[in-house]
Amino acid sequence: MGVLDKFSLGGRTALVTGGYRGLGRAFAAGLAEAGADVVIGARDAVASQRAAEALAEETGRTVVGVGLDVNDRESGRAAIQAALDATGRFDILVNNAGACVHRPALDVPDDEWDSVFATNVDGLWKLSQEAARHFTTVGGGTIVNIGSISAHIVNRPQWQPAYNASKAAVHQLTKSLAAEWAPLNIRVNAVAPGYVKTEMAPVDEPQFKARWIDDAPMQRYAVPEEIAPTVVFLASPASSFMTGSVVVIDGGYTLH
Ligand code: NDP
Repeated sequence: MGVLDKFSLGGRTALVTGGYRGLGRAFAAGLAEAGADVVIGARDAVASQRAAEALAEETGRTVVGVGLDVNDRESGRAAIQAALDATGRFDILVNNAGACVHRPALDVPDDEWDSVFATNVDGLWKLSQEAARHFTTVGGGTIVNIGSISAHIVNRPQWQPAYNASKAAVHQLTKSLAAEWAPLNIRVNAVAPGYVKTEMAPVDEPQFKARWIDDAPMQRYAVPEEIAPTVVFLASPASSFMTGSVVVIDGGYTLH
């Protein structure tokens, strides 16, 4: 097998949560381009279906869009079933769905704290567990979690305590599940992006420039397509000896 063949995802099926826009859309496209069939799942079922149709046309892969709330275990099971119904397989879970709210810690209401953790941690946990239950029946699988540099640094000038703590939990859960599930042939890795231009991160707004852009050694933000190749790598046999790794992709932001 040649080295580039190891990046191929031909014959595999992936589920990307939050895959109709932003980083998730780029991950779904990257996985499909590498040969995978893909299920895109988010709460907006119509947007998920539209993105799936467009991606199917672009890549020629089977791409299905479903309504999915990662907080709802039943809808997670249904999304996995959609992968099995459409393609007969389910091999790769990309836990991309996420939420972030900017607010000083003293002002964060309980329901806001809870909702950030429910999406970023509880939802990721439930879907990982459901995926792994399936993977144990077919000899293995791979999970790629989307963490953040916010697990390592405290973003400024805005405050986002729930988000930062939730992403630290994502990194540690990645390692915990990787260790526990390695004997089951389930690899669990994460990427930790820096600032990436999406609806979540208003990287163009002037009030963020000094901290988000000027402080970064590369002096710029990323676009989602710069993170997607690493997700393909972690999902593929090219990373066959990697598990429990958190790959930082931040233009050098966390170097100082
Ligand atoms: P966006 O806000 O653009 O996209 C988030 C996606 O997640 C949407 O498709 C949304 O769809 C979906 N989503 C949110 N809640 C749920 C839920 N409960 N169930 C299912 N889907 C849900 O964000 P990004 O693309 O920027 O972020 C993607 C991931 O990357 C997140 O985990 C984020 O924390 C992480 N990240 C982003 C960075 C950045 O700079 N942009 C940097 C580091 C990490 P819907 O609302 O319809 O459900």
